[in-house]
Amino acid sequence: MLAGRAILFSGRRVNCPCCGWKLRSFTQGNTSIKTREKGYCPRCNSKARHRRNWLFLKEHTDLFKKPMQLLHVSPKYALARRLSKMANIDFTGIDLEGRPFANHPIDVSDLPFESNKFDAIICIHVLEHVVDDRAAMHELHRVLKEGGWALITVPIDFQRRTYEDPTIQSAEARKIHFGEEQHWRVYGFDFIDRLTAAGFEVELNRAEDIPQTTQIKFGIMENEHVFFCKKSKSSQRSATQ
Ligand SMILES: [Zn+2]
Repeated sequence: MLAGRAILFSGRRVNCPCCGWKLRSFTQGNTSIKTREKGYCPRCNSKARHRRNWLFLKEHTDLFKKPMQLLHVSPKYALARRLSKMANIDFTGIDLEGRPFANHPIDVSDLPFESNKFDAIICIHVLEHVVDDRAAMHELHRVLKEGGWALITVPIDFQRRTYEDPTIQSAEARKIHFGEEQHWRVYGFDFIDRLTAAGFEVELNRAEDIPQTTQIKFGIMENEHVFFCKKSKSSQRSATQ
């Protein structure tokens, strides 16, 4: 199915860095043949955020260059299908409910791994689904090696403070309050403070700083920001004090 659709969309106008193809257009959905700017890749079904994250990983990390122990939380197909096969990467995928490339049914807020295990972590649009996101952030920091990095993304509104209310439990109410049935909050500008409290040094890479020509070529949204988190020796000391 994907291979057939990819041929239908062969062209040169846009690029998908996740599968390396040049294409006529992106599509409206993961089975659609209608075109949409910044939509899905017709060959590998990457979403805009997956392409944005792949480019970031290429340009800002050593993921494609060095032997790596990688933890991919709730693996995203468009990234995991290649990362899990790369010779330099020892790939661990986890997900609470199980999905392709998740080897273990594991809760990210209670990880069964030893401390300082992974060189790198990818955690894309997961924390808004986690009831105790602060515990998850502490766990991600704990299992990361000193000098390691974590690429973390969440949907975020920088105009507000994080909105959450643990008494809002039903899926219906969560959709009304937080935008989706499976979300527990809407993150705001203080998201970085939570990551810092977990011990991370955080670098915000804003999507709007990406040149327009690059955004169009790779179908990248203007609101897909990357929180690039590092674990330094000093940050580990402060987190364990
Ligand atoms: Zn693709």
